[in-house]
Amino acid sequence: MKSVTINPRDFISAPFLVCPNCSKNEFGVLLISGTSYTRRCRDCWHTRRFSLPTIRKAVIYIDQFAISNMLKVRDETTKGHEKATENPFWTELWDTLARLRRCQLICCPDSEEHENESLLAPFFAKLKSTYERLSGGVTFKNFEHIRLDQAFQLIQAWAKGKEPVYDFDAERITYGRIHEWKDRIFVSVGSMKQDMVDAIRQTREGAHEDLKKIFERWRNEKKTFEETYEAETRGYLEGIVKTYRTVLMNRIAMIAGRQPYDVNSMLHCEGELLESAVKEVVSQEHGAEKTKELSERFFKEGVPKDLPFNKISGALYAVLATKAAAGQKDPPNKGTFSDISFISTLLPYCDAMFIDNKSRALINDLPKTHALGFGCKIFSLSNKEEFLAFLASLMNSATPEHLAIVQSLYGT
Ligand SMILES: [Zn+2]
Repeated sequence: MKSVTINPRDFISAPFLVCPNCSKNEFGVLLISGTSYTRRCRDCWHTRRFSLPTIRKAVIYIDQFAISNMLKVRDETTKGHEKATENPFWTELWDTLARLRRCQLICCPDSEEHENESLLAPFFAKLKSTYERLSGGVTFKNFEHIRLDQAFQLIQAWAKGKEPVYDFDAERITYGRIHEWKDRIFVSVGSMKQDMVDAIRQTREGAHEDLKKIFERWRNEKKTFEETYEAETRGYLEGIVKTYRTVLMNRIAMIAGRQPYDVNSMLHCEGELLESAVKEVVSQEHGAEKTKELSERFFKEGVPKDLPFNKISGALYAVLATKAAAGQKDPPNKGTFSDISFISTLLPYCDAMFIDNKSRALINDLPKTHALGFGCKIFSLSNKEEFLAFLASLMNSATPEHLAIVQSLYGT
């Protein structure tokens, strides 16, 4: 059996300084962790911990199609390499993002959308390592969790009779901290849900078929933006309540032995979690005797209609409906449903998003009355130069003190 010798000296890396104990030029970086870092001498083992200043990084969402193109230009064994290299933008984007990340100025968290899309590609492991190179392992929690986090804030305000003030700090909804100094070494953890490929594909196909039918209906109905917006924003609660009812019926049928056991029916669903949250908050605020009445009122009045993700999603679908009403024949493509899903969920938490041209066009076509009103800048291939200029401005905004620390820690 071959043995591998690990030399603890190898964990100490450049840049090296003069050791305060033995005066040799061997005082390297051992570990960087969040708000401090440790140096150790490779010769005398003298060790010291230093604190680091707090930092704020720009949170940037990079759509999977861009991740895919950046992988293709960097890996000539990947199908589509030749075509991707025709556009020098992808190499420039990768280099710029990698540099900003090394300089601790940006974080590009990955998401369930990256994972699902990657699983559908033949080279998903390479895609995973590409988006993780940019995210450093910081991952957005799943979208249901994020929707329910907004709902929980809404319920708390509603129970107090107040207007909700949402907290859109991205760290609230990520695994892994964003605004901290990252170690140079990142070890990817977690396997991908390969057994989910068929289910993901089926869900996507189903959603696309539904959207095509709805688009056809919009073409005939010719409703206004406002009419569709109203229907779409009400649709969220109706949808999760309907699913919840189906799940309950399945559980009853299973317990009564009328249906075979299905583990999926035993898992919680979004409507169920929402109902539990409403009951818990209302009972804390108003006591047990008022819980039933107030909880019913919450659902009856359709309070979740105004959740931030739901308003964005409703407005984007309403833009699609106006295009249908104006005579657009081609239905939205396969990616539209999941694009609207990740954009409406994550946009308020991001400083910038790089998405596809079609999605950006939807946002640009929003009527002024429904402008999104978040600080997130939206970019796509049509304004890629503006995106590079935005990234350059982030680089230029770094203070000399910050860059000096970067130099001393990472040597770049
Ligand atoms: Zn020393």
